[in-house]
Amino acid sequence: MVYDAIVVGLGAVGSAALYQLSKQTSHVLGIDRFKPPHPFGSTHSDSRITRQAIGEGAYFVPLALRSYEIWRELEQRTNQQLLTITGGLFVGKEHSRIQTHNKPGWLTTTIEAAKQFGIAHQLLDVPTLRKRFPQFQFLDGDLGYYEENAGFLRPEQCLSAQLTQAHQNGAIIHPYEQMLSFEQTGPEIRVQTDEAVYQTRKLILTTGPWITESLRTTPYRELLKVYRQVQYWFDIQGDYPTYTPDRMPVFILSDRDLYGFPAIGGADGGIKIATEQYSEITTPNDVVRTVSQAEIEQMYEQYVAPNFVGVGPECVKSTVCLYTMTPNGDFIIDQHPDYANVLLTSACSGHGFKHSAAVGQILAELALQGKTNFDIQAFRLQSFSGLIN
Ligand SMILES: Cc1cc2nc3c(=O)[nH]c(=O)nc-3n(C[C@H](O)[C@H](O)[C@H](O)COP(=O)(O)OP(=O)(O)OC[C@H]3O[C@@H](n4cnc5c(N)ncnc54)[C@H](O)[C@@H]3O)c2cc1C
Repeated sequence: MVYDAIVVGLGAVGSAALYQLSKQTSHVLGIDRFKPPHPFGSTHSDSRITRQAIGEGAYFVPLALRSYEIWRELEQRTNQQLLTITGGLFVGKEHSRIQTHNKPGWLTTTIEAAKQFGIAHQLLDVPTLRKRFPQFQFLDGDLGYYEENAGFLRPEQCLSAQLTQAHQNGAIIHPYEQMLSFEQTGPEIRVQTDEAVYQTRKLILTTGPWITESLRTTPYRELLKVYRQVQYWFDIQGDYPTYTPDRMPVFILSDRDLYGFPAIGGADGGIKIATEQYSEITTPNDVVRTVSQAEIEQMYEQYVAPNFVGVGPECVKSTVCLYTMTPNGDFIIDQHPDYANVLLTSACSGHGFKHSAAVGQILAELALQGKTNFDIQAFRLQSFSGLIN
């Protein structure tokens, strides 16, 4: 049998691609080296921020908006809540050039994108911020951008919902199967795994932080860097209802390198607060997956204590997760440089989850129709060609 498409890697992007493919054909196979959702890649740990005015570039906005529609469609089909609107509070200094996800001027771009796309928002000065959001410590000169329809997604449930739907549509799913290699054989691609050999018209690689394995010897391999990131849940010492999703929004304090969520795990679940680091490169095989007490203490002293009110030093939970970064924070969605029938994706750069449902649609369209109406020019490998040797 020859598949219409095989998707390798069923994380956020691969599960979305398989779901979208399965709406058009049942001759699709998805394989993953683990059983998704799992905690070894980039798609785990309860929550992901979603927002519509995208400070990483206004050209991401159509992806975010289409993804909102797909999450709602999935909620209807599976009768579960995937997207919770809490509002989003994004704070920085006006005209700051500090980078977020490798993008300078993130807050300014966010505000401009909101105006361009008519996304409901409010700009808040410091007295208003202090009155409305007593959970935070604001600094003189802060500017607040509040987006009404921002909120959080549940990554594990989003992934599972898409795999369940794909399966119901006839897609075949093989967990615990690892792709070892692929090669062009005539018009088809031959995929070798640790279990079997398959033939397919199109191969879609959505292997997240493992993607460099598939870029083999191409110079593009050097573009992508994997970073260990830690997420922490600190205990709530203040009045618990103040920190619940109906009172506290998701937040990004861009100049202070901080983001997080309201308390979504009950009074004892803490609130998730995280920063980002881009100094130590790792791989999914080598990364240290435990979080030390010293890391927790440093996180509390440097980031939590100075920026929040009523959040205690006890860390009730922590997880390690992986960012796969391109040099400019954009994604890669393109044909493999050496194989016309292989699509290659790296849609992370620390902000990919919110767009993943639409990226899945783009990949399905590229695989089955050979084109998409989404503008993906910025995500072509060619746009990075000036950055490789
Ligand atoms: C700490 C953290 C916080 C984040 N916060 C946000 C946020 O708030 N908002 C947001 O929008 N985004 C956020 N992101 C980014 C978002 O989570 C990622 O963009 C997204 O999860 C990437 O998914 P993926 O499918 O590319 O990778 P993954 O989910 O890692 O999936 C890759 C899959 O490929 C499989 N695989 C790899 N190699 C093979 C092989 N050879 N054979 C078979 N299977 C293979 C793996 O097992 C894995 O399941 C965050 C990421 C992290 C790490």
